[in-house]
Amino acid sequence: MRFTRMAAVAAVALLALGTAACGSDEPATPAGGTPLTAKAAAGDLKFGVKADQPGLGLQTGSNYEGFDIEIAKIIAKGLGGDPAKNKYVTTVSANREPFLQQGTVDVVVATYTINDDRKKKVNFAGPYYTAGQDLLVKADSTITGPEQIDGKKVCSVTGSTPAKRIAEKYPKAQLQLFDNYSKCVTALNDGTVDAVTTDDIILAGYAAQPDFAGKLKLVGKPFSSEPYGIGVKLEDKAGCNKINEILKAAVADGSYAAAWNATLGKSGTPAPTLDTTKLTNCPA
Ligand code: GLU
Repeated sequence: MRFTRMAAVAAVALLALGTAACGSDEPATPAGGTPLTAKAAAGDLKFGVKADQPGLGLQTGSNYEGFDIEIAKIIAKGLGGDPAKNKYVTTVSANREPFLQQGTVDVVVATYTINDDRKKKVNFAGPYYTAGQDLLVKADSTITGPEQIDGKKVCSVTGSTPAKRIAEKYPKAQLQLFDNYSKCVTALNDGTVDAVTTDDIILAGYAAQPDFAGKLKLVGKPFSSEPYGIGVKLEDKAGCNKINEILKAAVADGSYAAAWNATLGKSGTPAPTLDTTKLTNCPA
């Protein structure tokens, strides 16, 4: 009985080796999945993106726009596909890993911080941008940094790194969690919470909305580093490395800067300089 089970395990292991070794000119097929290049060729790439973050991932009707959407278009094109055929699926912070694991989406471009916990479940190409955790408060608030949030109602999103950091490092804050940041911003504007916390670049997008002009302000003292990665399935090393090549090419040919200029850069902030020697998160 025991022998039979061991033999079966060995057979599966051999099979896996055989799959990995065959067709070396072809893109490696990620276990349980079609290569991203094949999906791109078929016009069948599904990107998990945010739908409520102005400048980054914002849905209006059936249209999605923002820097992350432009990055998704660059990736689709680099994989040999037609970006106009991209399918966008709305993700929230908490369902990004499960959406990749279950194949609901092929790629996640959604203000998605690379970290070791998440790397156990998914692979990250990138980073393609580095944000920092900050606070959004009412224009007349006296909060000037995270050292002043003890006893305050601070809103963030389930499954996000900023929510985790508040719970761990600022346990005296009253953390209120929603599934997306726009609900937090509405709560702040209504006066039911004292601050919203997440990445500065996300909060700046809300503060710039005409509805909130003169009402909300970004504290502007980032207290973390949030390197944004492009999530793919944990098994898809080839796809991950290919996306890093695509990012390198996009910096070199100006399409990365153009993606920024068409979205977040509209406020006048120049495109960040992306150091492509730091695209080192994919497994070798
Ligand atoms: N970058 C952080 C994260 O990945 C916050 C933004 C978000 O929740 O999408 O958790």
